[in-house]
Parts: sequence; C-alpha cells; structure tokens
Amino acid sequence: MSNTASPSPKPIVYVEYDPSSLPPALPNYTRFVCIADTHSHEFYVPPGDVLLHGGDLTNTGTVHNFEKTMEWLYGMPHNVKVIIGGNHDLTLHRKWYDDNWDRWHYRIGKQDIKTIMELIKGPKAKEAGIIYLEDEKTTFQAKEGGRFWSAYGSPWSPWFYDWAFNYPREEGEKLVSKFPKTDILLTHGPPHRIFDRTSGGDYAGCVDLRNRLPILRPRLHVFGHIHEAHGAYIHSWKDGSCPAVQNDEAISEDVQDNIDTTVFVNPANWPMGKRRADYGTREFGGEGFQPIVVDIVD
Ligand SMILES: [Zn+2]
Repeated sequence: MSNTASPSPKPIVYVEYDPSSLPPALPNYTRFVCIADTHSHEFYVPPGDVLLHGGDLTNTGTVHNFEKTMEWLYGMPHNVKVIIGGNHDLTLHRKWYDDNWDRWHYRIGKQDIKTIMELIKGPKAKEAGIIYLEDEKTTFQAKEGGRFWSAYGSPWSPWFYDWAFNYPREEGEKLVSKFPKTDILLTHGPPHRIFDRTSGGDYAGCVDLRNRLPILRPRLHVFGHIHEAHGAYIHSWKDGSCPAVQNDEAISEDVQDNIDTTVFVNPANWPMGKRRADYGTREFGGEGFQPIVVDIVD
C-alpha cells in the first residue's frame, strides 16, 4: 500500500439554508460560522464551535457602536470568537483616528479608545471567548480535547477615500508579505477577483493578497468589505493558482481528497447590489446575506 497522506474529507459549506433545519456538524468536523460587515446591527447567527468576523464591526467605531456590537457577540454561544476591525471601525486605527477623528465625530467628541479596547479585550470579552486580531496570529482550541487551530487577522483594505486601515495599493505587497501560513486567514479586504466585484463592475480586491495566497493556502479565508459580493467557494489548489469567482457561480469545483483546499468566504451581512434586489432582502443577515457556515475536518 502507498504511504501517502491520508485522504482529507471535503469541507461542507452552507450559504443559503433554513436555520431551523441546518444539519449538525459531522463527528471530527469543526463548525465555523462566518459573518462580516455587521455594522452594529443584530440578527440571527447559527450556533457552532467558532465564530469568525471579517471586520466592519461598527458604523464609525463609537463607544456606543462598540457597546452594542460587543454585547451581541458576548451573548453568542460559540466557544471561540475571532474578530478583526475594518475600514469603518475608525477608532481601532489609533494613529489614523488621532489625526482624523474630527472629520467624523466632531458633534459627539473624540471617542475614548481605552473604553473601546476594554470592550474588545477586557475580562468580559475574554470570558466570552473573544480574540481580537490586529495584524497578529493566535492559536486556539475550538473544542475541549480537540486540535489547535492557527489564525491570522488583518483589518486592512486597499485605499478608498482615506478611511481607517486603508493602504495605498503600492504598499500591498509589503503588507501581505508579513502574513504567516495559518489554518485560518481573516482580512477585511478581499483578494482580487474573489468575491470582490462591486455593483459598478470593478474588481476591488487586492492583487498582492491574491498573489500571496498560493503560498499561504489557508484552509479557510474569511473577508468582507464588498457587501454585494457575498458568497463562498471551495477551491482546490490542483495547479497552484487562485480561482476567479464571484457570487453568481457554483460553490465548488472538482475537489480531490489529497489536494490542499481553501474555502473562500465573503459573508458580508449587509444586503446590497443585485443580490439584494434578486432576493428582495433589506434586513442584515436576511435571505441571500445569511451568515455562512463552514464545516472543516479536524
Ligand atoms: Zn462594511
């Protein structure tokens, strides 16, 4: 018999489902529930082992916004909740906020970052299993006695009218070259040509992130930012190149057991664009914009 690596069963992904009849994860699988661009709104999120948030936790990162968002996250049943910021979470980008706060918060006054960090990283957050990542790596156990998963999170997205955590496109390569190889990658911005098409037809994702992915090959890559590009795709690294997929395409290609796969997920929950029109959804997390559930074998 050959001595090759044992076959790794395929990931299972739910993009559209009836929450009351979502099947439980199979034995030896970990259930990741992915959300993004929740902007201080609340809606139903299915239970699972791990919650992953792809950034834009709030509208403009006020203390009030964070109180609302974090209370919602504290109350969720997942053992571990890995979260990142996004371009709307203005206060989390401290240096930028010091220089720009009055453009946004001149009426309510400069927001207290200490209070916000306490909500995100304080005892209450820790007790609720929240891990906030800002250009850093973590490892966690999703289930008692289960395997350890590694994750890296980065709140940045390519420059767009000088919001928080924006980088000029020419600095993309420098940023992504620091991303380590992990099981899970969280970036607020999408990679180029992967769930990144705007309503205007632009592919807004980062080319340098796309070029880095064949090296990183995370088992799960969660992002957001382009709300209208909500979707998921199971990619097999057969020929070593990235896919080109948008939200109107099939969910998976020919996935083979002994080849690395990455599940790409843009779970943006704010209904926008053609998809919103097609589904007639207006509510956050509503039809067509539900949290995306990904089961991956341990
Ligand atoms: Zn957003």
